[in-house]
Amino acid sequence: MTSVLDRFLRYVRYDTQSDESSSSYPSTAKQLVLLRDLAAELRELGLQDADVDAHGYVMATVPATPGKAGVPTIGFIAHVDTSPELSGAGVTPIVHRSYDGRDLVLPDDPSAVLRLADNPPLAELMGHDIVTASGTTLLGADNKAGVAEIVTAAAFLVAHPDIPHGAVRIAFTPDEEIGRGTAHFDVARFGATCAYTMDGGGRGEVETESFSADSITLTFHGFNTHPGYAKGRMVNAIKVAADFVDRLPSDCLSPETTAEAEGYVHPYVVQASVERTSVKLLVRDFETARLKEKEAWLEALAQETVSAWPGARLEAVVEESYRNMRVVLDGRPEIAERAREAVRRAGLEVRSRLIRGGTDGSRLSFMGLPTPNVFAGEHNFHSRLEWVSVQDMEKAVEVIVNLCGIWGETA
Ligand SMILES: [Zn+2]
Repeated sequence: MTSVLDRFLRYVRYDTQSDESSSSYPSTAKQLVLLRDLAAELRELGLQDADVDAHGYVMATVPATPGKAGVPTIGFIAHVDTSPELSGAGVTPIVHRSYDGRDLVLPDDPSAVLRLADNPPLAELMGHDIVTASGTTLLGADNKAGVAEIVTAAAFLVAHPDIPHGAVRIAFTPDEEIGRGTAHFDVARFGATCAYTMDGGGRGEVETESFSADSITLTFHGFNTHPGYAKGRMVNAIKVAADFVDRLPSDCLSPETTAEAEGYVHPYVVQASVERTSVKLLVRDFETARLKEKEAWLEALAQETVSAWPGARLEAVVEESYRNMRVVLDGRPEIAERAREAVRRAGLEVRSRLIRGGTDGSRLSFMGLPTPNVFAGEHNFHSRLEWVSVQDMEKAVEVIVNLCGIWGETA
């Protein structure tokens, strides 16, 4: 049988970088190359209904084993795209066998060194085989580790009809990294009672909490006129916006000063002209009520700034990004509990972590498909130093198979 490592090494060689400046869907046609090949691979494994829809989503079914048609259908989801932040072209994966704590120097850029001191999770992976890229690209373990694990688990279930389980749905999605992974996800067609994204970090993790997230665009309107004749008339919106940014606290409430359960506000795009300057900020918190407080506070601070600049005017627009999936998952505790049981049956310790970001599951949970996130073994996301342990990927396959079996015991 093809191993999860063989599949992973094959998938990471596809360049599947998504592009947030694109208006097509998927954002890049190259993602479709892998998506189509995955559908073909699933069909070859015997998942006869595997197909790619008009938006590029791959869906397929591992049919229920005899007598298990009454078991609720569950799903497993992974995304094929890689982050636009770093090149995913020409990825050359390297398997570093039997890790022993040594520095792993990536040959294409010797300044790229994976060190135990910088990567505490490596400490418990002595003897593991660690996969990295070669130093100039990301690896793409985020989320091709998850893709490889799901395909391998599907192949295992097909080859082991002695493991009773209900129908298992599989979906591979494009454009997760640019926040559009669920834009055309057909929850009704997927037809599962719940799903699991296989897109988490170290072994044993089951994640049920993501940020609640909005963006707020604060536009400062000034007044432009010929600078030679502007005395007493010009209002420079760039200076108003700079004054506003300067009023943001420097010792708290920012990505660089918060961790764990703390939220933040984060100016990340400025479009500037004398007449009109807009500052776009990410707003993040685990509690939606506190998210709203942060937005109200930002708007008040911007209003206060504008008051100090006679003639200036403010416009504020809030856009919802996603919500903490815990709100949905708390109402269906068995979904995460079965994932934890699957982890325990794989001989691993269950870990949970707050996701300081969003997953496709954050959106899917509110679209009617409760979807916690399970570890895939990914580390150093979006980095040249991205890595994954082969043995962790094998454990993730085991967890998927266990989960199918545990749900299979429910009817
Ligand atoms: Zn991911």
